[in-house]
Amino acid sequence: MSVAPVRPVVLDDRFARELPEMAVPWRAEQAPDPRLLVLDEELAAELGLDASWLRSADGVRFLVGAAVPDGAAPVAQAYAGHQFGGFVPRLGDGRALLLGELTDSAGHLRDLHLKGSGRTPFARGGDGLAAVGPMLREHLVSRAMHALGVPTTRSLAVVATGRAVRREEVLPGAVLARVASSHLRVGSVQYARATGDPDLLRRLADHAISRHHPAAAQAENPYLALFEAVVAAQAPLIARWMLVGFVHGVMNTDNTTLSGETIDYGPCAFLDAYDPAAVYSSIDHGGRYAYGNQPAVAEWNLARLAEALLPLLHEDEERAVELAVAALGGFRTRYGAAWAAGARAKLGLPASTGPQAGALAEEFLTLLQAPRADLTSSFRALADAARGDAGPLRRHVLDVDALDDWVGRWCALDPDPAAMDRTNPLYVPRNHLVEEALTAATDGDLAPFRQLLAVVSAPYDERPGLERYAAPAPPDFGAYRTFCGT
Ligand code: AMP
Ligand code: MG
Repeated sequence: MSVAPVRPVVLDDRFARELPEMAVPWRAEQAPDPRLLVLDEELAAELGLDASWLRSADGVRFLVGAAVPDGAAPVAQAYAGHQFGGFVPRLGDGRALLLGELTDSAGHLRDLHLKGSGRTPFARGGDGLAAVGPMLREHLVSRAMHALGVPTTRSLAVVATGRAVRREEVLPGAVLARVASSHLRVGSVQYARATGDPDLLRRLADHAISRHHPAAAQAENPYLALFEAVVAAQAPLIARWMLVGFVHGVMNTDNTTLSGETIDYGPCAFLDAYDPAAVYSSIDHGGRYAYGNQPAVAEWNLARLAEALLPLLHEDEERAVELAVAALGGFRTRYGAAWAAGARAKLGLPASTGPQAGALAEEFLTLLQAPRADLTSSFRALADAARGDAGPLRRHVLDVDALDDWVGRWCALDPDPAAMDRTNPLYVPRNHLVEEALTAATDGDLAPFRQLLAVVSAPYDERPGLERYAAPAPPDFGAYRTFCGT
C-alpha cells in the first residue's frame, strides 16, 4: 500500500479562542505502542482527510494526539452537569481533549475530539483512560445509529494504545477519535451560568447560535430562539431513539447536546423485548433512564437548560421564566409529532393517514408488551403481513385474535411493504452480538467486530447468511448489564 504524503491537517481553535474560560490547554498522554484498530474511511473522506495517511504511522500518531498539527491548540473542555438529578458544577473532559475544529467537505465546522487520551485537570479520581472494548462499542453503535438515520456524534477511528488499563481486570487501552458538530452540552451552559459571569454565558450562547442555530441570531429574542431551536432538535432525536429502541442509559445534562446529536455511548443498549421499563445500566437502580422515561428526561434536561439561560431570556426574571416555560411547552408537541410521523412510516402508511396511524402504532406496541416480543423483529415482520403472510408476525405475539383484528384494520389502510423494509431495520447492534464481538476484540481477534460493523452499517438490506444477526438473543444470554466510565 502506498502512503500518501503527509498533508497537514488544518485545525481551528475557535472554541478555545472564543471561550478561553472553558478551555484548558492540554496534551494527550503518550501511547506506548499505538495501533489502528478501525477507521471509518467514509467519514475520513467527508472530513477531507486522507484515509491512507491516517493509516500511516504519522496518521496514527495524529489520531492519538501524539502529533499535533501546527496551529492546533488542544484543550480539555469545562462543563457542569446534573448526574442522575444531582448538580455537579465542575465535570469537564476528565479523559478527553478537543483537538480542534475542521471544516468538512460540505463546509460545516466539525469538532475532532479524543476520548481516553489521559488525565486532565478535570479527571478527579479517574485514570483518564479508556479500554479497547468500550471504545469499539462507541464506534460500532454510533456507526449503527448513523446508518439508521439517527443524528449522532461519529467515530473516525479507534487506536489501541499499547497501555494497560486497570478496571475490574487489566484491559488493553484505546483512544477513540470522535467527530461531532460540536461538543456543546446543556452542561456547558450550566457551567457558564454557574460561574456567575454574564459575559461568558452570553459568549457561549452566541457561539452556540453561530455554530448550530444561526437563524436564531435574526430573531427578536435570539437567546429564546436558541432555546427553542435546541428543543426543536432534541424532540425529534428522542423520538428516533424511541422508534428504534435505543436506550441511552446515562441521560445526564452533560450528555445532552445543543446540536441534537446523540453523544456518549457508555451504558447504552438496544431493546430486545419491548418493555417501557427496560433498564440496562448497572448503576441506574431507580430506573431514572429507563427506555420509556427518555422523553420525560429529555424534557427535564431542557428545563435545566432554560434555567441556565434565564438571565439572557429577559432582564425581568419572572418574565424570563414565563418565556422559558412557554418555549419548553413546545417539546411535547414536537416530540408527539415526530414520534407519530415515525410510527406512521414504520407502519408503511402515507402522511394522509392522520392521527389514526399513531393510535394504531400504540396499539401494536401494547400487543408486543405482554409477550415481551422482540421490537426490531416484530416491526420487520409487519412487511410480510402487509404482503399477506402474517405467519412470522404471529410468532411474536401471544394474543393472536387481537393481532388478527389489528392486522385487519391496519391492512385496510393499504400499507406499503417496500417502504416498510426501508424504514424498519433488520439488523441493529443486538446486545449479545455486541458483547460477543467486543470480547473477541479484547482478546485480539477483530474479525467478529468487523463483520458486525459491516452488518449494522446497512441495517435495512437483507443479506443471505446473516440470519443470526437478525435473531433475538438466545435464552441463555440472560439479563444484559452495561457500565459507565469504562
Ligand atoms: P460520562 O459518564 O462518560 O459521561 O462521564 C462523566 C464524567 O466523568 C466526565 O467528566 C468524564 O470526563 C469523567 N470520566 C469518566 N471516565 C473517566 C476516567 N476514566 N478518567 C477521568 N475522567 C473520567
Ligand atoms: Mg459524558
